[in-house]
Amino acid sequence: MEIKYWNKEIEKISREELDKLQLERLQKTVGQALKTEYYGSRLPAAGINSAADIKSLADLRRLPFTTKINLREAYPFGMLAVPKSEVVRMHASSGTTGKPTTIYLTADDLARSTDITTRSVVATGAGSDDVFQNMMTYGLFTGGIVLHYGVENLGAMVIPASSGNTARQFQLMKDFNTTIIHATPSYMLYLYSRMDDFGIKPSDLNLKKAFVGAEPHSEDVRKKIEKLWGIDVYNSYGLSEMNGPGLAFECQYKDCMHVWEDAYIMEIIDPETLEPVPDGEEGELVLTILVRDAMPLIRYRTRDLTRIIPGECKCGRTHRRLARMKGRSDDMLIINGVNVFPSQIEEVVMRMKEIGTNYLIVVQKAGPLDKLIVKVELTREILTDDTRDLYALKARIAESLKASIFINPIVELHEPGALPVSEGKAKRVMDERRD
Ligand code: AMP
Ligand code: ZN
Repeated sequence: MEIKYWNKEIEKISREELDKLQLERLQKTVGQALKTEYYGSRLPAAGINSAADIKSLADLRRLPFTTKINLREAYPFGMLAVPKSEVVRMHASSGTTGKPTTIYLTADDLARSTDITTRSVVATGAGSDDVFQNMMTYGLFTGGIVLHYGVENLGAMVIPASSGNTARQFQLMKDFNTTIIHATPSYMLYLYSRMDDFGIKPSDLNLKKAFVGAEPHSEDVRKKIEKLWGIDVYNSYGLSEMNGPGLAFECQYKDCMHVWEDAYIMEIIDPETLEPVPDGEEGELVLTILVRDAMPLIRYRTRDLTRIIPGECKCGRTHRRLARMKGRSDDMLIINGVNVFPSQIEEVVMRMKEIGTNYLIVVQKAGPLDKLIVKVELTREILTDDTRDLYALKARIAESLKASIFINPIVELHEPGALPVSEGKAKRVMDERRD
């Protein structure tokens, strides 16, 4: 196999050089962080008053962790390290409450993010002749526009299709001979299930590859998509806090995802003790971004569970790899690619006076997609009302939920006492997708 590189020098950099580069960039990052309102007080509290206090990579462990809650506390500008006039881009991700978490990039940050993303795309063997149809949502979400820039930078043609509209997706794929798709794994399966309706077979298309990510999926799902579509499928992992996709990508060998270590320092910790675990052992991924002047983010707890793959990859890249994500250490659900915290649902249902004290969130597979069912118990008073009122109530609950979590739930109304009560800690979420 001919191995393609975007920037061979940096992709095959020696470990020694990489460590040196990481240290330099970590010092710069700490210097930037000290300028922010958020880290400006927290780093000195940990004994770090200037970039020079970071003398080796081991000093990283002296720095405090940052969490999604901290990002929300700092919303909107508490972690901004440059004048607002220098910011050229922002992105946001949904959070546990109405407040999103935002990130900012300067023009230089954007150029670096784009270059890293291009490296990831080329690592899969893609080239400037490819036609790339991006089926991830364009907007505040990084999945659309960030990979778009990376592919454009490569010189390949980008079709900014965004998500949804199956008929148009097929039409574009046929008319423009799309060779690469970027989508969630569930959407890939869904599209396949609709092919018959549109009189299309995979062999009518020119598709060669798909980049799939944004949600957890198993090796079996990858194999299934590859078999059904007759293409190569590459796992792509990213999170908006860390500039989105491009952060970790599978190479042509499709054997775990390279993390660009000149741009990110990865650590795996035990989520209970917060102590680091040795390479190869599973734990929570913690990331520090080294190439973002506008908004430094230090030791960010991703809550994603994975492990570092020790040893070199057959492709010759020295940047270490991460195993497929095993799950999360918190209760965030990913439903059809959208992040949903059970607390968001709870807030909505508990606010409504017609709803009693018990509710249950059920997530199921509905064909290739996910289905969210929210079961709520009504108060006794409401039960005496007209059924028409109940229909209206159901619609109102669904609408309020949609406004908060951005996906349409199926709402079920139950009589008081009908839903199971657990002894001790209430079990409010039943995720039945993995059964
Ligand atoms: P967002 O910030 O909205 O892009 O969501 C990021 C989260 O999506 C990550 O923290 C992961 O939990 C999940 N995620 C993204 N890509 C993958 C992937 N390839 N495999 C498993 N989970 C993923
Ligand atoms: Zn590789």
